[in-house]
Amino acid sequence: AIVYSHVGKRFGRTVVLEDIDLSVDTAETICLLGPSGSGKSTLLRCTNLLEVPDRGQISIHGQVITDKGADVDGIRTRVGMVFQRFNLFPHCSVLENVTMALRAVHNKRREEAVAIARSKLELVGLDHLRDRRPAQLSGGQQQRVAIARALAMNPEVMLFDEATSALDPELVGEVLDVMRDLAKQGMTMVVVTHQMRFAKEVASRVVFLDHGHLLEIAPPEEFFENPRSERLQLFLKRVL
Ligand code: ATP
Ligand code: MG
Repeated sequence: AIVYSHVGKRFGRTVVLEDIDLSVDTAETICLLGPSGSGKSTLLRCTNLLEVPDRGQISIHGQVITDKGADVDGIRTRVGMVFQRFNLFPHCSVLENVTMALRAVHNKRREEAVAIARSKLELVGLDHLRDRRPAQLSGGQQQRVAIARALAMNPEVMLFDEATSALDPELVGEVLDVMRDLAKQGMTMVVVTHQMRFAKEVASRVVFLDHGHLLEIAPPEEFFENPRSERLQLFLKRVL
C-alpha cells in the first residue's frame, strides 16, 4: 500500500498540496482527476521523490520514504513512473532502452537483462520490434516501450502521469489496454488521466484534487453518478 498522511507541498508561497490523506491499497488502481494546476503531477512526483513534500509523510509497504536520508535510488526502483513524453534514448534499440537500467542499476548480466527485457516487451506486445530504434515506432508503441522499461525494474507501484495525452487519438487505446492488463494483474497504480472511460472501468476508486486539496474520493460509480461537491459537479460537466 501507499499511504499519504498530511502531505503538503509549496512552491515558494504557492500551496500546491494541502494536507493530503490517502491510502492506496495493494493491487488497487486509483485515478487522479482534477483541473490543470490542482497538484496531480506534484502528488505523483512526491511518490517517487522527484519532489519532496515539505509536510507529512508518504510510506510504501510500510516504509517511510519521505524521511531524511531515505534511499532515493532504491525507492525509485520500487516506484515505476510513466510520463506523457516517453523519453526513450533515440540512439538505442528498443531492447537496449529496456535493458539499460537493468544493467546499470540492478547490475544484471547481459543475458539476464535481455531475458527480463524481452519478457516485459512481450507483455506490452512489442518483443518482435525489439531491434528497432524509437523513431521507427508509433507514439503508442514508444509509450508501451516506456511502460516495459519501467516494469523491467520490477516495481511494487506504477505511476502514470497523462501517459496517453501526447498520443494521436487512435493510438490511445493500445496504451490504455496495457494499463488495464496491469491493473487486472494486481499492480498497485496511481493514474492521472483525462480518459474518463478508463477511470470508470478500471479504477477501484477515483480521487478529485482541487487547488491542492483532496476534495472527493469514491468508487467510480459513485464518483461519476453522485458527485457531492459543487466543484466536482462542475468539473464533470465540463469533461464528460
Ligand atoms: P496539469 O493538469 O496541467 O498537468 P497538475 O494538476 O498536474 O496540472 P501540477 O503540475 O502538480 O498540476 O502543478 C500544481 C501547481 O504547482 C501549479 O500551480 C504549478 O504552476 C505549480 N508548480 C508545479 N511545479 C512547480 C515548480 N517546480 N516550481 C514552481 N511551481 C510549480
Ligand atoms: Mg500534471
